[in-house]
Amino acid sequence: MAMTENQVRELVSQVLERMQGAPAAAAGSWDSTQYNGRKFIGIYDDMNDAIKAAEAGYRAVRAMSVEQREKLITEIRRLTREEAPIMAKLGVEETGMGRVDHKKAKHLLVADKTPGTEDIISAAKTGDNGLTLVEMAPFGVVGAITPSTNPSETVICNSIGMIAAGNGVVFNPHPNAIATSNYAVDLVNRACKAAGGPEVLVCSMVKPTMESAAVMQSHPSIRLLVCTGGPGVVRAVLSSGKKAIGAGAGNPPVIVDDTADIAKAGKDIIDGCTFDNNLPCIAEKEVFAFRNIADTLIANMQKNGAYLINKAQADLLASIVLVEKTDKSGKVRKIVNRDCVGRDAKVLLAKIGVTVSDDIRCIICETDFNHEFVQEELMMPILPIVRVDNIDEAIDLACKAEHGNRHTAHMHSKNIDNLSRFARAVETTIFVKNAPSYAGIGFGGEGHATFTIAGPTGEGITSARSFTRQRRCVMADSFRII
Ligand code: NAD
Repeated sequence: MAMTENQVRELVSQVLERMQGAPAAAAGSWDSTQYNGRKFIGIYDDMNDAIKAAEAGYRAVRAMSVEQREKLITEIRRLTREEAPIMAKLGVEETGMGRVDHKKAKHLLVADKTPGTEDIISAAKTGDNGLTLVEMAPFGVVGAITPSTNPSETVICNSIGMIAAGNGVVFNPHPNAIATSNYAVDLVNRACKAAGGPEVLVCSMVKPTMESAAVMQSHPSIRLLVCTGGPGVVRAVLSSGKKAIGAGAGNPPVIVDDTADIAKAGKDIIDGCTFDNNLPCIAEKEVFAFRNIADTLIANMQKNGAYLINKAQADLLASIVLVEKTDKSGKVRKIVNRDCVGRDAKVLLAKIGVTVSDDIRCIICETDFNHEFVQEELMMPILPIVRVDNIDEAIDLACKAEHGNRHTAHMHSKNIDNLSRFARAVETTIFVKNAPSYAGIGFGGEGHATFTIAGPTGEGITSARSFTRQRRCVMADSFRII
């Protein structure tokens, strides 16, 4: 098959880079600057240099037509589909978290369902005084902080939306997922270059640190900050004094009432809870089940790969997956053990001396409302179930367990009054009815995908338009055609 001009150019540049001495990576090793001898594009030692390069990329994109910009995005989508298996494997190997097949599915979702330039819509207002046009303009260079839980997915999803809006981007990715994140940064740059874009459009760090994040936050060229992560980093970014989009933590509760299709609810909840080993912030974290259907629900969960542990086992597991940490004020609090986040259920069960087959994908247990498994955002396939007497108790406890994050909640029911009451009370950005949690980000549910769900700052399911600023142009007394 004949190679295209772009493929030839890419091949030549790869050969030249290798000749210039980029060391070949050992199989299975990860490096934040290269992959198997291919040197990453857009990775810098110094945050100031990264911002300068992203700014040059932004200027180049500004000079492009929207049609050309969309071509960059089409190529990012194509390359993401093609290299999804590599990023999925790299992500699991580097972080030790999640599941390769699910991470691959997440990349395909990002490639297929992240909106592009079609999301940028202008508005016009005409009247006796003429025409006013409102357009969605780029901010310039966006500074983005990304998590370890969906590393390359977030980099690509953010890049598509931010580039579609006409911005350049500099990332300060999670240090524990830096090779995977930088692979995605390089992928975006390779795609842009191949589609006629600038040499470098999105940038990242060889070694991201809190200091490099601080430089990014205070740099005059960074006009918008977008932070996807836990409460600490979202708080830091929101207090930067700059326009910021914060996509923070959740602890999604699920209510199952006695009108639900219990067999389906059992399967859906386990499917959602175990997706990428519970890493997505939208995944089911605790269940409130009506007392009269709880046994049937548990039996259906067991039919779908759940392993039921008793109270003593749950307490032992809690003492392993949560550890004590003293904060700056000297207060001791429980935090998740990073070595357990995103691990397979089988691996977690082995920690309490239980051996199971690979078919087991979730650990379930009955607890009371105050149990740590209910209260903490574990991000691992452990699902506590609390029995409730009625819808009032279910809504009250589920709202309390969500801790006012207003992130995501789920419900299985056929009672529209119950569904509406919970949706109104919990006030979450995403509310999924009668489906696994991932339906909320476009997987088997309508609507576009994102891995940056901005509850605290209100942008919701972010897309290209979230990364724009509105500009108004007024033509007084003219340009009406009626
Ligand atoms: P994390 O909070 O540990 O880290 C996120 C990023 O912030 C990393 O790059 C980290 O190095 C950096 N960071 C941490 N504190 C900082 C500070 N004070 N200043 C600057 N940078 C700082 O995130 P994680 O563990 O990788 O991700 C899991 C968390 O993120 C969960 O709480 C999850 O719910 C949340 N999350 C939310 C969304 C969403 O869309 N709302 C998506 C994914 C993850």
